[in-house]
Amino acid sequence: MKVSRRGFLTITGLAVLGLVTKPVFDVLSRLRLPKASLAAGTLTGKRWAMVVNLEACLEKDGCRDCIDACHRVHNVPGFGNPKDEIKWLWTVPYEEAFREQEHKFIKEDLKDSPVIVLCNHCDNPPCVSVCPTQATWRREDGIVMLDYHRCIGCRYCMAACPYGSRSFNWRDPRPSIDEINPDFPTRTRGVVEKCNLCQERLAEGLLPACVEACQERALVFGDLEDPYSEAREMLRLHYTIQRKPSLGTKPQVYYLV
Ligand code: SF4
Repeated sequence: MKVSRRGFLTITGLAVLGLVTKPVFDVLSRLRLPKASLAAGTLTGKRWAMVVNLEACLEKDGCRDCIDACHRVHNVPGFGNPKDEIKWLWTVPYEEAFREQEHKFIKEDLKDSPVIVLCNHCDNPPCVSVCPTQATWRREDGIVMLDYHRCIGCRYCMAACPYGSRSFNWRDPRPSIDEINPDFPTRTRGVVEKCNLCQERLAEGLLPACVEACQERALVFGDLEDPYSEAREMLRLHYTIQRKPSLGTKPQVYYLV
């Protein structure tokens, strides 16, 4: 069951007015959004995580809906060359994403497929401990944050991240942004950036932009500490893998293969 952002806001608005009926509440309950967060107007969780259903992701050949949505709302520039590329959400070949892992049951078609990757918002993030200015830190709900104003561009965090999840602005990004979103800060030359799990949208009661944009429902975002969340249910019901689990970073992006 999919509900658009506009639809979701309409339903919650009607709920406040007491004008919704039981079927509408059934829809809301199937969304598995944290109940407390609806009242507070913000999405709160104890341990946010992302579950990627690879098979669903590959249903639409060459689909970039999630990447485009993410980069649009976060003012990610398009420099047009891999050397300067800024990545929040991107794809790598399956064997690169899961280089360490051997799994004889992996389907043949998955092996040659592109895999969507992002910051893993690790439980034990090495990028955080090396930052000399505390410009990056882990929130209690698991989101690994980055303060662009405190970043001095030393790139220790980039060296520490084993997933290549951080990008450096070698050039001024603003001239290379198609249409600047005034609701999200642009960065400057000399600053590191990465996925923030749309913390600014969660604060407004919205799901991450990539999740909302995915028509195939290949991206499931949720609170793993909530036993009724869809994300938790997916981990309970399906076999999932993580990237480079042997490093001990405890990545919180799970892949359903
Ligand atoms: Fe840090 Fe990299 Fe883990 Fe993201 S994926 S939290 S940048 S170590």
